[in-house]
Amino acid sequence: MEVLIADGDEFSRKILKGTVIGWGHEVVTCDDGEEALHALLDPRGPRIAILDWALPGMDGTEVCRLLRQRAEGPYTYIILLADRCQKEDIAFGLESGADDYVVKPFHAVELRARLRAGQRIVNLHAALLEAQDDLRRQATTDTLTGLDNRAAVLKHLDHEIKRARRQDSTLAVMMVDLDHFKQINDTYGHLTGDVVLRQAAEAMRECVRDYEGLGRYGGEEFMVVLSDVNTEGAAVVAERIRDRISELRIELESNLLMVTASIGLVVSPPGAPVNAESLIHAADQALYVAKHRGRNQVQIAPTDTIKHTISPLPVISAA
Ligand code: GH3
Ligand code: MG
Ligand code: MG
Repeated sequence: MEVLIADGDEFSRKILKGTVIGWGHEVVTCDDGEEALHALLDPRGPRIAILDWALPGMDGTEVCRLLRQRAEGPYTYIILLADRCQKEDIAFGLESGADDYVVKPFHAVELRARLRAGQRIVNLHAALLEAQDDLRRQATTDTLTGLDNRAAVLKHLDHEIKRARRQDSTLAVMMVDLDHFKQINDTYGHLTGDVVLRQAAEAMRECVRDYEGLGRYGGEEFMVVLSDVNTEGAAVVAERIRDRISELRIELESNLLMVTASIGLVVSPPGAPVNAESLIHAADQALYVAKHRGRNQVQIAPTDTIKHTISPLPVISAA
């Protein structure tokens, strides 16, 4: 474990450093409060600190107070070292945000035990954050393909719609639907169908940048959301997706399986007063045309198929 030791007195700092290194920890030292705060605010910085109350510049309690203003991120466990041993001082130190309080001169055995207690808290907190992250990932991920699930891609779409309105920019939405997928299931079985879904998803992932929206909308249907892109640019991406899926060769025991996709694409004009429903509806209509015209193709929705379901922003006159 990396431990930060902040003490303005060089001699005490060296003694403490040697002691803590002797217990098998890595040590970072600081000789003033600002430097200590800076190191502790770094998300990759030490997660456990021994701070002297009487630090030059900014004292130990002030470092605690400012550090605790950070609402997110990993937990930092702070042991405050102080000459003061009045109950009021201890209370003040803990109220400032210290987790523990040790009166100088410290006893090595006691400090070591308190450091261990801190280590347990830091480890527990890290495990809790990891579990939270796992839950968040599970709640937003489609288990079969690993893409965003429907709720997550719709959330991304809503977010981007608001941004496009605010920034007067364009937004593209694609509905990608695998062709004759039921036949694949019926002929080769659902497990093969699942393999096709996974490979198609991977092909799409390779065509879309990480920060763009891509998710499984449902069944064999996927949604792509591209921000700040014109119709030509979005059509290039759509065509690339269509092409990559059609190039897939899924190996079965005795032959190779191929699949194609039809894509309905809609691009909303800059800052257009649209909502998710109106864009999905227009993309769906274009998808329907693509299916109708023979599949394995991209169809672009005419702008007038986008229903402006929310009222345009009021025009404020300059007068
Ligand atoms: P079209 O070209 O018109 O889109 O025809 P289609 O056969 O692809 O469309 P249809 O809606 O008739 O069939 C979709 C099929 O997708 C039916 C359903 O069983 C299958 N499906 C949906 N989810 C899954 C899944 O998770 N795994 C597998 N293997 N199949 C799925
Ligand atoms: Mg289909
Ligand atoms: Mg479908």
